[in-house]
Amino acid sequence: MWSKAHKPLSRAEFDRRFPDEASCAEHLAALRWPEGLACPHCAGRKGRRLEGDRGLWECAGCHRQTSVTAGTAMHQSKVPLRAWFTALHIVTSHSNGMSALQLQSQLGLGSWNTAWLLLRKIRAAMAAPEGDGALFRGLVEVDETSIPCRSKEDDLTADSRGRSHLGKIALIGAVEIDEGGRPGRARLAVLAGYSADKIGAFVRKAVAPKSGLLTDGLPAYKALAGEYNHRPKVVGKMAAHVVMPWAHRLFSRLLRWGTGTFHGFRRPHLQAHLDEFAWRWSRRNFRHTSFDRLLDGLAARPHRAYRDFVPGRAAGTA
Ligand SMILES: [Zn+2]
Repeated sequence: MWSKAHKPLSRAEFDRRFPDEASCAEHLAALRWPEGLACPHCAGRKGRRLEGDRGLWECAGCHRQTSVTAGTAMHQSKVPLRAWFTALHIVTSHSNGMSALQLQSQLGLGSWNTAWLLLRKIRAAMAAPEGDGALFRGLVEVDETSIPCRSKEDDLTADSRGRSHLGKIALIGAVEIDEGGRPGRARLAVLAGYSADKIGAFVRKAVAPKSGLLTDGLPAYKALAGEYNHRPKVVGKMAAHVVMPWAHRLFSRLLRWGTGTFHGFRRPHLQAHLDEFAWRWSRRNFRHTSFDRLLDGLAARPHRAYRDFVPGRAAGTA
């Protein structure tokens, strides 16, 4: 699904550019503090990096120390900064991403839980941005589907039990269409029912008012008629992939990705997977900047512990 243009760094280029902790810390500092250190103690703008691997800067004004990861999702991590960078490089350069198990072996991490948490934090940074600039505009296809989900009891790799053992879960997706009819950004969410409230909430969060909406004509969309330029395509004899080709393609690629990368989706962390897939789809023509964008996303998010992602659970299961 990635375009060939704008390729990300090769692994060899990545290794040359980020050989050690210091080079990663310098890169993160340049991204976070483009105009020089922002000292959290005295707001001083001048400082120097201290020798050693801990990514510490010392303020020239108050001489207090600041970690380059302080206030970011990477703070207090057991994992070295270079392993975070390597994980980001893998996630942004492999078209399909990877499972925690694959990442654990690629990074040589001792524990699967550590790899899982790392990946979960990266996925959190892929969540759809909020705000006016993030809203889709112009013409937008919006459609619903349902996909099979493995239950907790299902074996991680055994697909032989067949679909009858799988629960179904409803999703809603939106794809922005440009003037040339080409697909732009996409967004996906778990849909907790086909009511006008649920569908309306998704559309209002994803699509700017007055934009054109292409839908399947489900009654729930009628409530949006005053806010949007609604163009229902009643799917009768015409197949859905003809009237909403991009939404249809989004769903079919999502399913293939889930099967190929995770041996099928599971309910508890499904929204994080949907966010990752929509992020990959939306950035397919901007791969060369995906690494820094994602690093920026991690830097903008406060540190969260394992229990914040899996309340009341001892171990992750994605
Ligand atoms: Zn200071």
